[in-house]
Amino acid sequence: MDIREHRKRLLVLDDEKDVAATICMMAGSAEFEAEYACDAETFLNRVATWKPTHVVIDLQLVDQNGIEVIHKLGDMGCDAALIIVSGLGGRILDSSARAANENGLRLLGTLSKPFSRKTFKAMLASEEQVDKIPKEQPEQPLRSDISEKQLIAAISERSLIAYFQPKISCRNGELVGFECLARWPQSNGAMIPPSVFITMAEKTGLIHNVTRTVYNYAFSNLPDQVKNRKLKIALNLSPLNLADIQFPRWLLHKCQENGVEPSQVILEVTETASMDQPLTLLESLTKFRIQGFQLSIDDFGVGYSSLIQLARLPFSEMKIDQMFVKSLSTSDESQKIVTAVVSLAKSLELNVVAEGVEDSWALNFLRDVGCLEAQGYFIARPMDSVTASKWTARSWPD
Ligand code: C2E
Ligand code: CA
Ligand code: CA
Repeated sequence: MDIREHRKRLLVLDDEKDVAATICMMAGSAEFEAEYACDAETFLNRVATWKPTHVVIDLQLVDQNGIEVIHKLGDMGCDAALIIVSGLGGRILDSSARAANENGLRLLGTLSKPFSRKTFKAMLASEEQVDKIPKEQPEQPLRSDISEKQLIAAISERSLIAYFQPKISCRNGELVGFECLARWPQSNGAMIPPSVFITMAEKTGLIHNVTRTVYNYAFSNLPDQVKNRKLKIALNLSPLNLADIQFPRWLLHKCQENGVEPSQVILEVTETASMDQPLTLLESLTKFRIQGFQLSIDDFGVGYSSLIQLARLPFSEMKIDQMFVKSLSTSDESQKIVTAVVSLAKSLELNVVAEGVEDSWALNFLRDVGCLEAQGYFIARPMDSVTASKWTARSWPD
């Protein structure tokens, strides 16, 4: 057996020879075989021939810009774990991290120069955590060739369903509830995602029936323990549903029929700016609150889910957009934004949930800054009702 195949190999690109050699030494002390190149061409050739498991790139090079090198690594389909280093500051590091992700590279993290041996070794070690994210198949292929007629048929045949994704307490990891996410299973086993058919339902006016069909399914298939442990049930609500004045009453009736208390139900609302009648919006959201439901402002921090909505409308929860959460371990800016948003939620006495938690680093960070609840692939993916019940049983074994 060739021992080299099993040893981790790290290749550094830095045009300052001393710095490159120092990084190699640090990597050596972490049991890596390490080499460096001082120009982009040598580096890229070495990537192709030596096939390093890890690469470290300095953004500022004399002969080429680090971003170009990152782009070329993407074109080569490089699967080495990448660390970006630079003396240029957090914002530039953040943008280059995004560029690396968008070029399909496996980013381990970014480091501001100078950094210590300890920091560097901790980053190399963090790869084990990255690898612990459950790497299941992507949930579903994207399908956009559906027709309105097919959606009408799906509604009348009640073939729209919901998947359930757990939300846990950041403080103690306990299950606090589930978000119900709409799904449209096909006869060939494929699954049409909500991004496709919810948009179509909104455009065609079918959204009222789609929402009721999905909610009906969710209420009839709640994972075990939701009722007796009074877990939370988060449901997504299109702002267009608010025009349906019968809806709050219908939902109350659904709760009574299924033994669920309205206070267990959280309605997650996004993009409320698309409503052109602010008074109607204010009235209908307030009606839900009066009936005892919770209201969450979804995707907080992006689009229209903004401070204005928060100030005007009776929300009880804020859901931090996954864009900020996914990038927590690599972005200084995201860390600052999430910290500020959590503190804002606290001062407004709102529940605060972070979604898009993809690694343990993010979960620990969220706990440390006082975020209350977390949801994301690191905890669990959305699951069918039976699988979600099994997941619940792990929290409360018989
Ligand atoms: P959303 O409400 O922001 O839901 C979160 C989305 O992020 C879900 O996608 C979920 O599967 C995904 N997600 C959860 N954790 C992670 C993570 O750690 N990493 C990543 N990359 N993604 C994660 P999904 O199920 O495809 O839903 C997309 C959107 O469709 C939802 O975004 C929501 O706006 C909408 N939607 C879903 N179900 C319904 C529904 O019943 N009614 C309405 N009106 N909209 C719905
Ligand atoms: Ca949501
Ligand atoms: Ca969201």
